[in-house]
Amino acid sequence: MHAKNFLDIIKKYDSGFISLSNKNKTEKEISLIRKKLSTILMGVDYGVSKVIDSTGAEMDLLFVADKFQNAGLKKVLIRCGKVCHQDSILFFPRRKPPLLISTAEKEEDTPLPLKSPTPTSEESTYLAELEIPFLKDAVSCTNLDSFSGFNAVMRKSEAIKIGKECGINLNDLRAEKRELLQKPYIDDSDLPLEERLRRKKEMFFKVIDNIDLFMNNINAIKEKQSWYHVPFYSAWMGAIPVGSKHFSLGQILELWKYDGWTTECSCGGKIYVTSATGSLLSGCGGGMGYCDTCRTTHFQLKPLMKYVKPTLRYVEKKLPYDVKIDSLDEVIRQLKLLENS
Ligand SMILES: [Zn+2]
Repeated sequence: MHAKNFLDIIKKYDSGFISLSNKNKTEKEISLIRKKLSTILMGVDYGVSKVIDSTGAEMDLLFVADKFQNAGLKKVLIRCGKVCHQDSILFFPRRKPPLLISTAEKEEDTPLPLKSPTPTSEESTYLAELEIPFLKDAVSCTNLDSFSGFNAVMRKSEAIKIGKECGINLNDLRAEKRELLQKPYIDDSDLPLEERLRRKKEMFFKVIDNIDLFMNNINAIKEKQSWYHVPFYSAWMGAIPVGSKHFSLGQILELWKYDGWTTECSCGGKIYVTSATGSLLSGCGGGMGYCDTCRTTHFQLKPLMKYVKPTLRYVEKKLPYDVKIDSLDEVIRQLKLLENS
């Protein structure tokens, strides 16, 4: 076997194979299920590729990759495996060993871990070494197509329709993915307002009371994802027409240190801005923040653009969803150890 270009993708993104055939399916049925599954998978923004064998023929397989790092691929592949009555799907989590996952309807999902590709793995041998029967003849994949770009909206509505026929609700899948990507956001909507405000202030001052510790070690925080991505209460930007974005601890520290998300308080103290909301079209709105000295909350800090502009570089940035995040207390504890070492 001489597998081309699979390994680069497998090392870079969550990816996987799903077989389209089984002994009961006719060629026509396979072709229909191929069309349906590609449409569904692209409809939730995964890249889908044909799999080619050594004779140049298209195999009854799809290769799928989470090329926009949207998360949730494993779950979606399992659902697809069940829909087309396959025995199993093969899932490659990024930087972790691949899993062979049973999708036979009566069985529980018991993932079988396989050997990881190592940095030295050869394209030509890695897939063969896995000894998965349906992969035996796979030689190469084609471009990873997806729906982003021209005509995406129309094709997504087609995907939703086909999904429905197959018993897959695309809107639910999209919502689940959004949830996975919103990790910097602390959902406390079920708590009373007073408790929410109390927690917000408590977290803010936990950082502000240790602000030198955080600022002196900002490079260490930037390098360590489990610190950088700690969710930070109310650190967010919402601006028409850009949209909204929550910021993590690392991002808010950067905004404070480098991007002018601070201003002077009339008491002589320093106001640390934690959010900015409004409309860039009308200029209405402004920043909100707390003073480190008199500890009061300030609203309508102007101008809005001063606060929104530096956040634009974060708008498209997504959280690496497979990273374990430390608690704020743990970050403070470890930073103190670092300083004293
Ligand atoms: Zn003040």
